[in-house]
Amino acid sequence: MGLDARTVMVMFSMLAFMFFCLFELAGLRVGNIRGVRQWAIANLCISLGFSLAYFYGQTTPGREWATVIGVSLIATGAGLQLTGIQTFKEQPVCWRILVPLIALILCLNTWFSVIHPDFHARAIINSFLFCAIYVACARVLLVRVEASLKVAYWFTGVSFSILALLTLARGVVILLSPDAVIGLHVNTPINTLPFVIGCLLQFCAAFGLLLMLNHRLIADVYQMASRDALTGVLNRRRIEEEAVRLRARCMRTGETLAIMMIDIDFFKSINDRYGHPVGDKVLCALADIAQKSIRAEDYFARYGGEEFCMLLTSTNENEALDLAERLRLAFAEFSLAVGKERLNITVSIGVADSSVVGLEFADLVMAADKALYCAKEGGRNQVATYSEMDMCSTA
Ligand code: GH3
Ligand code: MG
Ligand code: MG
Repeated sequence: MGLDARTVMVMFSMLAFMFFCLFELAGLRVGNIRGVRQWAIANLCISLGFSLAYFYGQTTPGREWATVIGVSLIATGAGLQLTGIQTFKEQPVCWRILVPLIALILCLNTWFSVIHPDFHARAIINSFLFCAIYVACARVLLVRVEASLKVAYWFTGVSFSILALLTLARGVVILLSPDAVIGLHVNTPINTLPFVIGCLLQFCAAFGLLLMLNHRLIADVYQMASRDALTGVLNRRRIEEEAVRLRARCMRTGETLAIMMIDIDFFKSINDRYGHPVGDKVLCALADIAQKSIRAEDYFARYGGEEFCMLLTSTNENEALDLAERLRLAFAEFSLAVGKERLNITVSIGVADSSVVGLEFADLVMAADKALYCAKEGGRNQVATYSEMDMCSTA
């Protein structure tokens, strides 16, 4: 092979250092996402480790200590990549396995490099132990994957898997070739090829970690943009988006879509009498009760102020009316403790479905709003449906 492996090592070491800087800079603006700092330090360890072990250590006999420290630093870097991934995924970190494993790598490398030099044994042991760390990284990445980060997790996980396979193959090949000369000072495929491919895979893994960070930030921003800050339920923007999707689905399948507009009765007087913080608590309590009452395929959002909106898939007006009645009763039975007082709240609900007004969200909202107005006119704390509005005094 014509490639000078040590030049590749220097290039790789410099690029790993740049990744260290990149992760450090990225880590400055990641909010409460954790693990990025560990990836930065991991790249610093890998960068220093490669320079020490393969550029400085293996160029001249008598510098075996540099190889020992270098390999241990690379192992620490690989370990920190693993702990960073676990921290990023908010999983417990496996320090109790990792620290003894790195200590073992340090001891075995000291033994086979300095005390009882055997480069064959050292290369085989290092290959298998590094393989174990990369397998752990791949496993954490590919198991229990968040849907919004799937692509990034798979990309990084596959990079670590190939890295694990590569180190395993290297270990096996060296094991089966007792006469081969081991060391980067000899440009043979057994020495250089796994390192060059390994370096490329390390880059893929580092890019993958950056991709994970990027996708997590996007997912968090999207989450923030689609949730109501006070109650945590979906906001109006998001339910409008979902309504467009549901409209397309219902047009395809012929399902009926039902809508519910929920409005708290005399909410202004709650604010006036008890103050806004109590009003906020009422909003949160009601959002909580309603959220718990819907199925996974339904949507509940704060539409604005003290008005909430519910979209119910494959549901007609009558079925929505049943749920609305149950909700109304649940709200009426609920009471909020305010000092020594117990505050009772009621809601009025308007219900409509797509069989009468069609699947346009604006039309559904308008119909449910009219029914809601009817419920208010009828004395509040009640449910009214759009199709029975002719019985309403204001119809
Ligand atoms: P009705 O029974 O006719 O619905 O009367 P209402 O008092 O509930 O209706 P109105 O629309 O007059 O009052 C809504 C109030 O909701 C006015 C506004 O101050 C309050 N509000 C809107 N958003 C918030 C919020 O985030 N927190 C609190 N505490 N109050 C809010
Ligand atoms: Mg109100
Ligand atoms: Mg209102």
